[in-house]
Amino acid sequence: MDIKPLVRREVVSLSAYEPEDYAGVRIKLDAMENPYPLPERLQAGLAGALAEVPLNRYPDPEAPRLKDALSEYLGVGAENLVLGNGSDELIGMIIQAFGGSPGIISYPMPTFSMYGIVARSMGQEVMELPLTADFQINFDGWLRLFSVRRPKVIFISYPNNPTGNLFDPDRIRRLIEGCFSIVVVDEAYFSFSGESFIDKIHELPNLAVLRTLSKIGMAGLRLGVMAAGKDIIREVNKVRLPYNINSLSQAAAGFLLRNRAAVDEQVLKIIDERERIYEALNGMDGVATAWPSKTNFILFRVNGAGKIHKELKARGILVRNMDAPGPLKDCLRVTIGTPEENREFLGVLKEILSGKQ
Ligand code: PMP
Repeated sequence: MDIKPLVRREVVSLSAYEPEDYAGVRIKLDAMENPYPLPERLQAGLAGALAEVPLNRYPDPEAPRLKDALSEYLGVGAENLVLGNGSDELIGMIIQAFGGSPGIISYPMPTFSMYGIVARSMGQEVMELPLTADFQINFDGWLRLFSVRRPKVIFISYPNNPTGNLFDPDRIRRLIEGCFSIVVVDEAYFSFSGESFIDKIHELPNLAVLRTLSKIGMAGLRLGVMAAGKDIIREVNKVRLPYNINSLSQAAAGFLLRNRAAVDEQVLKIIDERERIYEALNGMDGVATAWPSKTNFILFRVNGAGKIHKELKARGILVRNMDAPGPLKDCLRVTIGTPEENREFLGVLKEILSGKQ
């Protein structure tokens, strides 16, 4: 039987996520991970916490211990949190709860690709609004547009992936107050920017803030957090699958959050390295532009990004090729690694750009 006619119309035109080929990669700077492994002194404690998990039982659907640890970490009441299997899952839950049949989902371009992928897979109409040449939002234009065509949900990555910059917080606030949409401020890179809307969730009933543990050393656990006022929390909880956070992730994330001093040190090192790489890239012959960043990655433009990406990979260094017609033409995105990894990345890039290999 040919199952094609049974596939949902929205799914026919999608393609499955294509994982990178990691064969031969020694230095992995493509996915905004924290380059530092768990410190040795915490490994036995983590193993002990995991050994106690009753795997014969379903996870606690409310994850109370983990929510308490997150509440203390984020400075927000546990009742204002919904957890997701990565913030990717929360993006889906928000659209499930607030999208329409179909509804409009809006976000700037370029930005994190999952907003559009998830919205389309759920049959939503997407309204992609270009950033200005210096990667800023045209807030007046957005507000005018939204008074004519109302999105159900607006996503703002703050700071923005892949451009690395923050947007004006006062103007974001005015947008939240002036529109009739749920506004999701995605703070996946908060640890590297220090700027947040999380303390505004009680004043702004249409604001949801997303955070993730992925960029600060726990990408393998898959844990994302949405913080919002009680009305948004209630609706999103209705579409959440009860056991979406498995027991091992709950135990591991709780343990790591209670022992997070080591992570704070790592974040400071990453920020220092980010500034060093930014200077080095901007001073390197063959790099047209490197953009300042408030994240743990840097976007930069070279001549012939596709070829340079391949040559770096052939030397065991993986960055992300963002090259596409439009504002990201010839752009690469490098995640900040350890000082040794960064030194090698810069050295090899310099050799490739100067034509000596
Ligand atoms: N939001 C943004 C802006 C991101 O860049 C990413 C990861 N690339 C995510 C969310 C997803 O994070 P998670 O690992 O929590 O699904």
